[in-house]
Amino acid sequence: MADKSVRALAAELKNFLSAHEEEDFVSAAAQPAAAGFSRVTGQEDNTPAQPQMGPASPVLYQQVSPSRPAQHAAAVSKQPPQDTLTVVFGQAAQQHPQPVTVEKPQPVVSAPVCPPDQPPVGGTMTTEEKTAALAELAATIKNCSRCPLGDTRLNAVPGEGNVNARLMFVGEGPGYDEDRQGRPFVGRAGQLLDKMIAAMGLKREEVFIANIAKCHPMVDPQHPEKHGNDRAPNAQEIACCRKYLEKQISIILPEVVVALGGVSAKALIADAKSLGALRGKFYTLSLDNVSLPRPVKILATFHPAALLRNPGWKKDAWADLQMVMAHMGLKAPSK
Ligand code: SF4
Repeated sequence: MADKSVRALAAELKNFLSAHEEEDFVSAAAQPAAAGFSRVTGQEDNTPAQPQMGPASPVLYQQVSPSRPAQHAAAVSKQPPQDTLTVVFGQAAQQHPQPVTVEKPQPVVSAPVCPPDQPPVGGTMTTEEKTAALAELAATIKNCSRCPLGDTRLNAVPGEGNVNARLMFVGEGPGYDEDRQGRPFVGRAGQLLDKMIAAMGLKREEVFIANIAKCHPMVDPQHPEKHGNDRAPNAQEIACCRKYLEKQISIILPEVVVALGGVSAKALIADAKSLGALRGKFYTLSLDNVSLPRPVKILATFHPAALLRNPGWKKDAWADLQMVMAHMGLKAPSK
């Protein structure tokens, strides 16, 4: 009887231990499956892990990123068991009183958030992007009424030319002809500018031509049909409009800007000096509203309209343009 009782007791004890081993395993295995774990010996898998009820060998679970390739999951199986859940049962369980070891899963670190888009500048823009950006800016200018010139213009004159121009010419503002055509430097002064550009070995289509003020400043705004009604833009008009020119420069990002005339030179280089004091040397362009990704040189010379009135100044203007040519490696066309 005693033997029978001992045997019965031993059988109950065995059943009790087996039941607890199984409960522990199921409980432990359920945790990593819910947290996105996968067996390190298998393919990447998001399905819940199934408990293995086989022989007494350790079963490892390795936390696997949802995007990590399966090969990597296999490779990491030999790494130290950080982030692992180890379940030991059967014979090993009898040797170790606490066979289930669950290390707390490490939180999944999210990929860094992409920085917000920076405003594009010419140095990183494609030709298509520059063309689109300049067209959008031109549309804005044509609807602009930031200063009183917007009320009296016939057409805004944003500017025109090569979006990848190495050289930009900047005058003070549109005149009579430009106001009618909506294009810069198309009157007599424009024809002389075309000759100056050709003398430098370039074509008009290779440069970009613009003004600081995009609308026609008139002496008598009540009579826009009158000839000789042009004037230079005043300080308020320049302050309102210069952001458009600065945006154009930042998009095109030329090597050199030539300021045509004293108004343009003083607005873009230094207000305190006369054109005579500013011309004949290079400056580094500094803009109010935009920072350029690389230095842009600026040089001042006479406005073509001033050269028409004072032909004796053409020699000095040509000397200025030759400085630009030397800086850019341009050669005058052979005659
Ligand atoms: S001159 Fe310039 S700021 Fe003034 S209305 Fe024309 S585009 Fe706008």
